[in-house]
Amino acid sequence: MKVEAVELRLVALPLIKPFRTATATHEVVEKLLIRVVTSEAEGWGECPVGLGPGSINSVEDVWDAIRLGEAAPLPAPAGGALETARLDAELRAAGTSLADHLGATRTAVEAGVAVGIAASVPALLEEVEQRLREGYRRVKLKIEPGHDLEPVAAVRERFGADVALQVDGNGAYTIDDAEQLVGLDRFGLLMIEQPLPADDFDGHAELARRFRTPLCLDESITSETALERALELGACSIVNVKPARLGGLRAAQRVHDRCVEVGVPVWCGGMLETGIGRAANLALAALPGFTLAGDLSASDRYFQLDLTEPFVLDDGRLHVPDGPGIGVEPRPEILDSVTRRRDIVPGVG
Ligand code: MG
Repeated sequence: MKVEAVELRLVALPLIKPFRTATATHEVVEKLLIRVVTSEAEGWGECPVGLGPGSINSVEDVWDAIRLGEAAPLPAPAGGALETARLDAELRAAGTSLADHLGATRTAVEAGVAVGIAASVPALLEEVEQRLREGYRRVKLKIEPGHDLEPVAAVRERFGADVALQVDGNGAYTIDDAEQLVGLDRFGLLMIEQPLPADDFDGHAELARRFRTPLCLDESITSETALERALELGACSIVNVKPARLGGLRAAQRVHDRCVEVGVPVWCGGMLETGIGRAANLALAALPGFTLAGDLSASDRYFQLDLTEPFVLDDGRLHVPDGPGIGVEPRPEILDSVTRRRDIVPGVG
């Protein structure tokens, strides 16, 4: 299928409320959207900007690389977005949904929600209460040194032992914090995600031996090679799969397949996706190895106005789009209102 043009758009969407992790506070989400125009159909992909590992820091390199065509390498997250856009166009032309193409076995997936680091324990409890009322099936708390045992204890005490709860350290701890982290074992968490920096495989392997709680890696799993290393060292027993971080849906699918082969459960992480990225993630999360609820939330968890028709919770689940391709499109007037920069590159690839 001949690509007639590639459109690049930098968009900026304000979050309903700031989202704080151990490494950053986000108030506005920037994305690079890639639209591929072919003779038969169009397709969309989304690349996170400035969100740490798995995102790009600047759109300039991508802009230049797309202009140069296949001669210039794209950063992995942008390459993944371009791959999704091409695949979306192909599947729309063929009338096949992305979920069917990937081999999805579910039509809806359980929705989880990530709750950022709050200003106070009462503020945290209020947000967790709101999310449970909205119907989320599991809650993930962001933690950081000095903000871990106390908030987790408070959430357990208030909402009970039955709430499916997990924590994410976003790499903010060191192995010297092991004693403190092992204290989390008493809360019956589903998992502890990425306590140590991304490159500390040995440290995670040591923690995995000391914890009763399963250890999940996120930022560390940047490639299939990284996954193999983690598996070999016993550095995790659960993997958070993010297509943007792995360089696209195909790589994410291979990581899923490998984890299924070795009996490691996976779930689909989020990078504050708009409806475009969310649609693709939902198709991926409908694969059989995604046995744990992902950070796949409704549009109103993030945005007043999503780019696409909003995704809504249905009894704690999100429906997997079943239309051709990713199954959704941006709403033109909303897209234009959040576009900061736009360019159309003719006849590449
Ligand atoms: Mg994470």
